[in-house]
Amino acid sequence: MKSYRKELWFETKARRVYINITPQVEECLRESGISEGLVLCNAMHITASVFINDDESGLHADFERWLEKLAPEKPHSQYAHNGFEDNGDAHLKRQIMGREVVVAVTDGKLDFGPWEQIFYGEFDGGRKKRVLVKIIGE
Ligand code: ZN
Repeated sequence: MKSYRKELWFETKARRVYINITPQVEECLRESGISEGLVLCNAMHITASVFINDDESGLHADFERWLEKLAPEKPHSQYAHNGFEDNGDAHLKRQIMGREVVVAVTDGKLDFGPWEQIFYGEFDGGRKKRVLVKIIGE
């Protein structure tokens, strides 16, 4: 069995943003030389997510509105977590949007359903953060 590991780095200016990282994950898969197996892709930070959904700007605006209803950023004082930090909302948003995705690898390609794409969801940007890509198979 082959094994491959890579960290993808992100530093967004905006506090919240969604980035389609499918091309980077496909590049990792090419580098790995693995044609049958599994890709695990996870945020390495507890205020960011990796998730699969449609690359459609209206949907991303809907995510933003929905998450702001569930866990509004402000006022910062509404969260017990805040005080030293101001990212209580970002921890909650990450919890809803998830930590990781697993994608099957078949014939050297990500074996997606229709419209599936992999996204990095940043909820507390402005600093360097990582996504782990781990691929196993043969
Ligand atoms: Zn925090």
